[in-house]
Amino acid sequence: MKMVTKPGKLGRTVYLFLVDGMLIDTGPALLLEELVSFYKQNLFELVTMTHSHEDHTGTAWWIKENRNVPIYIHPNGKRICENPASYPEYRKITWGVRKPFKVLPLKTSIYSSNVRWEVLFTPGHANDHVSLYDKHSGRLFAGDLFLTQEPKIIMKDESIPLMMDSIRTLLKLDFESLFCSHNGFVPNGRNLLTQKLSYLEELYDKIEHLYRKGYSIEEIKKLTFPKKYRLIEFSKGEYDTLHAVTSIVQDIKKRS
Ligand SMILES: [Zn+2]
Repeated sequence: MKMVTKPGKLGRTVYLFLVDGMLIDTGPALLLEELVSFYKQNLFELVTMTHSHEDHTGTAWWIKENRNVPIYIHPNGKRICENPASYPEYRKITWGVRKPFKVLPLKTSIYSSNVRWEVLFTPGHANDHVSLYDKHSGRLFAGDLFLTQEPKIIMKDESIPLMMDSIRTLLKLDFESLFCSHNGFVPNGRNLLTQKLSYLEELYDKIEHLYRKGYSIEEIKKLTFPKKYRLIEFSKGEYDTLHAVTSIVQDIKKRS
């Protein structure tokens, strides 16, 4: 297996994985030159995207134009990939502008040269997010689901309750370590993912408690996340601790 590590210009380090002839994710457009030199030195038979975010799909158009290999994504991500980038300016500066490219919809499993991978729909970080699992070796590619241990500030279309469900889905699998798109190989992945779930469950309970006491969303935000984050302003509110609160409160309302 090969792993490509590229430091993002302003954002996080990016990892791409080439395993058994399958390339997992294609990095951001800003790293095109470096990644093309990797694509020219390494053969692969297919590309699978963990989700449609621009730091995972940014050089797929080059592969489509220069390599005769299929590119797969969850059906929810098809329209996003096949249309021009519609994300805000600060993300275009951070990762570059992703060009559109044709994709094929993922099913519940996918074959590389010798391995049948289970494709697990694991939304929460993105609603087209999948994880890839080989039950024979226990290898797990978790995309951006692990990412940070204790998320506080999340994007507008992320959902804490969906993230929790997706982590529970993964924890049912037999694995010890995992591969994360921004942390690389995480040897104690199961442990850390279990801790992340506990953190999110505690956060959920805390917010539910405040909500049932009658506090407003804004008040819950201030009580739960008193710290100010520069990213909120930089992203013009696309990233905000408020979204963590909102996604949990929406879930509470749905349940009751
Ligand atoms: Zn992402």
